[in-house]
Amino acid sequence: MSTPILQIQNLNSGYGQLQVLRDISFDVTPGEILAVIGANGAGKSTLFRTISGLIVPMSGNIWFDGINITGYDSARIVSRGLSHAPEGRRVFNGMTVEENLKIGAFRRADKSRASISAGLEQAYTYLPKLRDRRNQLAGTLSGGEQQMCAIGRALMADPRVLVIDELSLGLAPIIVEELLYTLENIQEGGCTIILVEQDISIALSFSDRAVVLQSGQVVMTAPSPELLSNPEIIKFYLGG
Ligand code: ATP
Repeated sequence: MSTPILQIQNLNSGYGQLQVLRDISFDVTPGEILAVIGANGAGKSTLFRTISGLIVPMSGNIWFDGINITGYDSARIVSRGLSHAPEGRRVFNGMTVEENLKIGAFRRADKSRASISAGLEQAYTYLPKLRDRRNQLAGTLSGGEQQMCAIGRALMADPRVLVIDELSLGLAPIIVEELLYTLENIQEGGCTIILVEQDISIALSFSDRAVVLQSGQVVMTAPSPELLSNPEIIKFYLGG
């Protein structure tokens, strides 16, 4: 078993006085696709806001590639190689696709012109539709294209771990298929992927392993095929 690239240890977190996450612990293995699933309000987004440094945890530790990053701000965490495509895409509507991608390069360790060009080339290779639309304003893209743009922007930081929050939200199944194919290529390129998904069948059919969150706690960690073949468990924890 290889050393985890990300380790979450006894994490407690929330908003001000409101505690949402309770004693969360799990590891992420390099190269895997890990799904984090849970019903509405289970705490998935809060967990990844905390891991990404947008929320400072109440207690617990987050280790990334052997370094304790607890309390690091989000810019520093992205620079270390953990990049996040946020829920709702959040592209910059008034900027072109390429300008959006270049914003992602601010957190690239190597900011030389050659490195940024290589990053753009890589993003366009994984997401060829973005190349065709490079000069189009991001606000005029379809939902699926905006998701591609958000993934491309996250890739521009040259991550070793890519977190995708709600990949499928509001998108047609055929577009989701296309995005999953892209993520598979990104994983084969050596990037670890964490999918934070409300759509359980998408999450489980695409991932190697799943962490199940319920009311801010980890209630189960299991290989995804095992969970997929056990609808009773899914129904018990997720009501689906
Ligand atoms: P969803 O899939 O619906 O986004 P989720 O699993 O991602 O759900 P969170 O968004 O993390 O869940 O929400 C967990 C809890 O934290 C909810 O009770 C929610 O009301 C609360 N919460 C989320 N954001 C905030 C905030 N900015 N301030 C206060 N409470 C919040």
